[in-house]
Amino acid sequence: MKQTKGKWFLLVLLLCMAVVAGICVVSTVKVKKKEQTVAALESEVQKKESEQQTQQQPETETQIQTEAKTEVQTETQTEEISETTTETETESRTVENGHVVAIDPGHQGSWVDMSAQEPSAPGSAETKAKATTGTQGRYTGVPEYQLNLDISLALQKELENRGYRVVMTRTDNDTAISNAERALKAYDEGGEIYVRIHANGSDDGSVNGALGMTPSYDNAYVADLAEDSYRLTECILNAYCEKTGFANLGIQYHDDMTGINWSKIPVMILEMGFMTNEHDDTAMQDAEMQINMVNGIADGIDQYFGR
Ligand SMILES: [Zn+2]
Repeated sequence: MKQTKGKWFLLVLLLCMAVVAGICVVSTVKVKKKEQTVAALESEVQKKESEQQTQQQPETETQIQTEAKTEVQTETQTEEISETTTETETESRTVENGHVVAIDPGHQGSWVDMSAQEPSAPGSAETKAKATTGTQGRYTGVPEYQLNLDISLALQKELENRGYRVVMTRTDNDTAISNAERALKAYDEGGEIYVRIHANGSDDGSVNGALGMTPSYDNAYVADLAEDSYRLTECILNAYCEKTGFANLGIQYHDDMTGINWSKIPVMILEMGFMTNEHDDTAMQDAEMQINMVNGIADGIDQYFGR
């Protein structure tokens, strides 16, 4: 019986060992399996991540390409638009009438020293200050050089709209350019006529109206320009007075002016009105009147050229 009991005990022991061993094997396998699963999962995650990266990369590239394309497109569009605008501008200007008008806004800023002398005519021993400062609005306080510039710049635009090429002797108040230099610039830059824009002043505040100045047929320097200059003066002064309603004080001959004597093309001075007169001074600062003033001068220039 003792042997039988020992056998059973051995059997049970062996069984137990077998069971324990079995469990151990199973658990090891399970752990291994789990490890494998984790590894597999990790590799899958890595795969997916890398896939995502590879997917994202082409997307990003595509985006960049698209952006670049959009940029190119936008640029092209902008270019096209600006080209079209330029074409439209050119088209509106291509109605060029072939004539060139030189405009001189009289005087310059009071701070510009133009007191140095220059010959009052080519080869003349007589000298005059390079330019003077001009008068001033007694009621508006506006200096003549400013009014002259404002009207001249507006006239430039109007004439360009009408197809003229315009030469300006100055486009700001700071430019130091003498009367002789202005006259030469008007010719050198292709001007056919030289229109000088001024406003008048008088001690007598009641004096009002516009007048024109032109060289006489006896002028020692520009007698050959007298006829055309007179016709130019007449055209501009009459059209100006018609448009503005300003009193027409007629045409004066002047042979003592540097800016006339140095001219190589028909020349005239328009004294637009008296800045010392209340009506003229105030009217010449009125926006609507300024349009009339500009249109009047432009109409006169059109008439001169037979347009
Ligand atoms: Zn003046």
